[in-house]
Amino acid sequence: MNVIIYARQSQDRLGEELGVTRQREDAETLARLRGWTVVRVIVDNDASAAGKKPRKGFEELLEALQRGAAQAVIAWDWTRLERNRRDGLRLMEIGEKMTVTLAFVRGSDIDLSTPAGRLVADMMSSVARHEIDQKSDRQRRAVLQAAQEGRRVGGRKPFGYAADGVTILRNEAQAIQDGYDLLLAGAKLEEIAREWNRRGFSGQVRDWKWDSVRNVLRNPRYAGLRAHNGEIMAPAEWKELVSEETWRAAQDILDKRAAVVTPRGAKRLLTALARDAACGATVHAGGAFGGYPMYRCSAYTKLPGGKAPDVGRHHVSRKALPVEAYVVGLVLERLSRTDAVDLLLDRQRPDAEKLRREASALRTRLEGLAVDYADGTLTKAQVRAASERINTRLLEVEAQMADAGRVDILAPLISADDKWAMWGTLTMGRQRLVIDTLLEIRLEAPGRGTRTFRPETVLHEWK
Ligand SMILES: [Zn+2]
Repeated sequence: MNVIIYARQSQDRLGEELGVTRQREDAETLARLRGWTVVRVIVDNDASAAGKKPRKGFEELLEALQRGAAQAVIAWDWTRLERNRRDGLRLMEIGEKMTVTLAFVRGSDIDLSTPAGRLVADMMSSVARHEIDQKSDRQRRAVLQAAQEGRRVGGRKPFGYAADGVTILRNEAQAIQDGYDLLLAGAKLEEIAREWNRRGFSGQVRDWKWDSVRNVLRNPRYAGLRAHNGEIMAPAEWKELVSEETWRAAQDILDKRAAVVTPRGAKRLLTALARDAACGATVHAGGAFGGYPMYRCSAYTKLPGGKAPDVGRHHVSRKALPVEAYVVGLVLERLSRTDAVDLLLDRQRPDAEKLRREASALRTRLEGLAVDYADGTLTKAQVRAASERINTRLLEVEAQMADAGRVDILAPLISADDKWAMWGTLTMGRQRLVIDTLLEIRLEAPGRGTRTFRPETVLHEWK
């Protein structure tokens, strides 16, 4: 009797893998014992039994059986052979027609040409289905439990740590800490990417870009927090590289300040910072006029043909340089006043350690709710109300932590003797942060035919 050996590589994270070599050797032994002739060995390589992708090898197997190339198939067990219900039915159909016997290293033979054999195959299929369901459920629970215990479950080597995910690599860790420092000091993600590239860190990506840097700085792992599906679950088993406050401050910048520090294509100091006094939309650089760079309302739209009928009447458009000089003057004058130190964050810097403890307690409480619900101690409505309350407080605490981690961007300017010189050394992103911290600016139209700069048309409000 001619037989085809079918083996399938399958791996899961819990390590219940069975190498194809082993499957194949056992199957060959079985064939020898039965005195069958192995006409072909087919190996499929896919990751899960529940997978939906067609198996190339399985299709080959069906095709060979259809042709009558073999009258038997040997597989290690039923779950190696049948991956889903549909595949199982197709195999049974061809098996019935072509009188095929299925033999298993683990399990008895099934003669698909008899009704009894097909019934057994059908039952095997149902049992396998059930086991797969249970297995993926077990895996999900195992992964969740690992997260709740702050443990890592494998995966790629994280930047800053060795492949075990726990051992800190000093050089990479230093780069990451510097990255957070730079971000909090107003640097752009591109600048951090350049710095990492310059230092030759290329383990994760070949070339750092702003988005890969952002992904690193976004990762709660660096604050020693274990996240699962985007949610922070518990303190991690590995040591943090930065404090949670630093991490939160960085998230804050990445969330909100990103638009301020690096609005897409920000060409000028006040792009997307200042607003049109008439309509409230932000201004951007545009429409150079007679060689002068201009700010123009972003809500202004050109009519077909490039005409701009409403500029000057409904939307602002005015020379950029005098406005910028005036705004910088306002800022530096404010920072020169004797009460400028009051602007420093330090005065009300919250107690970081206390906040950290509270956040941790709140998260533990959130997890406890699920248990209370499962126990029947709390009703669904009670759980919802309680988790809403806890989450609200958690958000407050996290925001305060972000404040605690924020580097005071005004400090160097306030302490500088020559404020104009110091201003000149700051990157535009940093300058924009300073302005955004202090001022709200609205630009009025300069007035028709006005040649001199009129400060009263730059409306400003201190924050
Ligand atoms: Zn406007």
